[in-house]
Amino acid sequence: MRNGRGPSPQRTGMTEKCGVVGVSLGGRNAARPLYYGLYALQHRGQESAGIITHDGFQQHSHVDMGLVGDVFGEDDLDQLNGAAGIGHVRYPTAGSVDSSCAQPFSVSFKSGSLGLSHNGNLVNADEIRDELAGMGHAFTSDGDTEVIAHDLARNLLDADLVRAVKRTMQRIHGSYSLTIMHDDTVMGVRDPQGNRPLCIGTLEDGYILASESAAIDTLDGELVRDVRPGELVVLQEDGQGFDSYQLVDLENTAHCFFEHVYFARPDSIIDDNLVYEVRRNLGRKLWEESGVESDVVMPVPDSGRAFASGYADAAGETTPDGEERDEHDDGVEFAEGLMKNRYVGRTFIMPTQDERERAVRLKLNPIKSTVEGKSVTLIDDSIVRGTTSTQLVQLLKDCGAEEVHMRIGAPPIVAPCYMGIDMATREELIAADKSVAEIAETIEADSLAYLSTDAVADVLESDRIDLCMGCVTGEYPYEIEGEETDREVDRPTIGEGTIPADD
Ligand code: AMP
Repeated sequence: MRNGRGPSPQRTGMTEKCGVVGVSLGGRNAARPLYYGLYALQHRGQESAGIITHDGFQQHSHVDMGLVGDVFGEDDLDQLNGAAGIGHVRYPTAGSVDSSCAQPFSVSFKSGSLGLSHNGNLVNADEIRDELAGMGHAFTSDGDTEVIAHDLARNLLDADLVRAVKRTMQRIHGSYSLTIMHDDTVMGVRDPQGNRPLCIGTLEDGYILASESAAIDTLDGELVRDVRPGELVVLQEDGQGFDSYQLVDLENTAHCFFEHVYFARPDSIIDDNLVYEVRRNLGRKLWEESGVESDVVMPVPDSGRAFASGYADAAGETTPDGEERDEHDDGVEFAEGLMKNRYVGRTFIMPTQDERERAVRLKLNPIKSTVEGKSVTLIDDSIVRGTTSTQLVQLLKDCGAEEVHMRIGAPPIVAPCYMGIDMATREELIAADKSVAEIAETIEADSLAYLSTDAVADVLESDRIDLCMGCVTGEYPYEIEGEETDREVDRPTIGEGTIPADD
């Protein structure tokens, strides 16, 4: 384990929070199901979108910058022939608006063609890239997906598919949910700690792999199950089934709790939990841990909505001291007091602080009558830089709110994410060097409370050690230079001659 404050995650070239999908169908073309699947995963990435298909003879590809609806037209989908394919949407960050990182990434080599879609972030990509570059591999991007693709292509020269994937999994360290296409064989791989989600579903005429089950629902499919941490799933080419290989077994998982708190769609089931229910239960816990009597409970739309509904429900049952309410006491009123302008993109897309601040005001407008003269509890999922909460507290007070109490459905974010969530650098995180009381003062809230890490683990029915909570504890489940780890990390050794044996 290491001590000290590490560098902020590198911004350029790393694979961000993304959405991946893969399908293998009996006969019909895969392009349209992939397209709709990507549409369902659009919240996971808005910078670029891409699909690669294979028709049994050759690969077809269409990858471009932009939203799914803008990247693909009828003609593009029509030329994507083949019953097998993978797709990708990529999350935007400052400094990486670069088409060289758009995916799926494809490479042709001696024993065929390879396509790769990656969600997550490797922590040892540079080491592997240096080693492969030394062996003559030419890289066209600084992304870690290309590193995985080259490593896999090299392993495929002298090993079968399953062994080659296993070798690569034993070398790469970090977070990865992958859909891979080797010629017309579609596969899914989830890193041994299961950091990012990936699930399998059935369609009418085949099988699908997707980051979130909402993509399967969109296609009228059935969720079969999550891909297990360390598992390789190979979809059969006739669309009739899949084969499973448990390639790496680790004692503990490191599921990202923030998927449930913020990132995933509420209608997705991830690691057996319906995200909406998780958020409502986190809201209930928030009331139990730090409930405050007020006239009205109000969500920050849309991120705080499920939390606020759980919080208000629990507030209707018990007092802040945990006493049952009597029948004449209805608890706290739930109201929508902030209206969202749906045509403004996510605040984080704005690269500068100034633009971000303007975007918050553009995005949300208060309904004066639900706020005026009232004490308001405002609920959101998280505070990152503090921009949103500072502005909203001000907005509500300008509208005549007497008091504004802020309640947050996650613990304070004190450290950056190295695993693919665009979470800001340590210097930008308001909780990195401020106490809760200092943050309340900065955002000018009458009171502020966050949920505890124990409550999060409890609601996710998980041991704390099976979750990645690096951003709220500063201790990571991966070995990252200059950062502390929360467990013994089994990191592969890189270097020529050190490729682990196959079994
Ligand atoms: P901030 O204004 O920087 O404190 O960010 C907090 C707001 O951004 C909350 O409303 C969150 O729902 C939302 N949020 C949290 N994490 C992210 C993220 N990784 N990307 C985009 N928005 C986020």
